[in-house]
Amino acid sequence: MNSTAVTGIGELVTCDGTGPDSLGIRCNAAVVVEDGTIAWIGPSADVPAADIRIDVGGRVIIPGFVDSHSHLVFAGDRGAEFVARMTGQPYDGGGIGVTVAATRATGDDELARLLASRIDELRAQGTTTVEIKSGYGLTIADEARGLQIARRFTTETTFLGAHVIPAEYAADRAGYVDLVTGPMLQAAAPYARWIDVFCEPHSPHAFDAGEASAVLSAGAEAGLGLRVHGNQLGPGPGVQLAVELGAASVDHCTYLDDDDVEALAAAAETTVATLLPGVEFCTRSPYPDAVRLLSAGVAIALATDCNPGTCYSSSMPWVISLAVREMGLTPAQALYAATAGSAKSLRRSDIGQLVLGNRADLSVLDAPSYLHLAYRPGVPIARALSLTASGETPEE
Ligand SMILES: [Zn+2]
Repeated sequence: MNSTAVTGIGELVTCDGTGPDSLGIRCNAAVVVEDGTIAWIGPSADVPAADIRIDVGGRVIIPGFVDSHSHLVFAGDRGAEFVARMTGQPYDGGGIGVTVAATRATGDDELARLLASRIDELRAQGTTTVEIKSGYGLTIADEARGLQIARRFTTETTFLGAHVIPAEYAADRAGYVDLVTGPMLQAAAPYARWIDVFCEPHSPHAFDAGEASAVLSAGAEAGLGLRVHGNQLGPGPGVQLAVELGAASVDHCTYLDDDDVEALAAAAETTVATLLPGVEFCTRSPYPDAVRLLSAGVAIALATDCNPGTCYSSSMPWVISLAVREMGLTPAQALYAATAGSAKSLRRSDIGQLVLGNRADLSVLDAPSYLHLAYRPGVPIARALSLTASGETPEE
């Protein structure tokens, strides 16, 4: 058995649901990890012996961020589109086709290399679990390939053949839905845990309620869990559909009416509302009303939606600072939503909380308090903690 003691933790934020704000904070704590799982938590002074000892010098330890919504398998660049949006051009989902063309034209090795560098980037910012969607292939072979490449890096892979209607099917929407729910789903399912759909009547490129329902039902029949992109660009059927079909998550939730909020509150044990404020920032759109959701009793999560069009950022700390500054969450609510909340949206209880028996996904903050995640926006204070070497050096 291989054991590591992480000692000298000034503030251990367990997010275990206890204490003020559910953060379960312990001061001057230590954690012992055995074979990758948490075996002991207690005062640093009482820590048992272990093979490796890492003293974090009074820093903060938090559960590694769970980024439960990303589109990381892609090639190409859409910087010019971003600049156009900043000068007033609205977003309608049309730019996705640009990334589809670039991704199709890129070889497997290069796509895997690009993905690996993005995974390094998010670990360096404290993320230890990432969900990755396909959706920039939109052919049978390209969707299966995107998921196969994503599977090398995470078990949380999502088939998003229903991202947009590809250009070659513009005149045959029904034909594309048949493809997605038939042979494309068959080819993708072995490499996917989830299926997702961009349900958005306000985009001519996305899917309406009937099409989205067909996609999700076929996915459920193939054994996949359900996720939905819904209510992003305007009011729509995405939330109601997600709740009706028992989806684990409905993501964006920017435009909600009272019935949507009520449905989400009633389904809080099943369906999480995943908020993606980086998208609102990068598209100059109004933010979702997170406070309204929390006061109604809705389960919320935070994620990046990292993608080359509407939010090319893999930074969960930045998402937390946006959630606090722009959506009115407290730093505690935002941190909980980015860890335990997003783990729940993936129906995982082994991550997102530092409790005995859970995976030892620890992230460290170069700060005296987790408040610094929101208080120091843009400053690289968070990183995933490596447990294999005693390389952590105390502060000078
Ligand atoms: Zn997305």
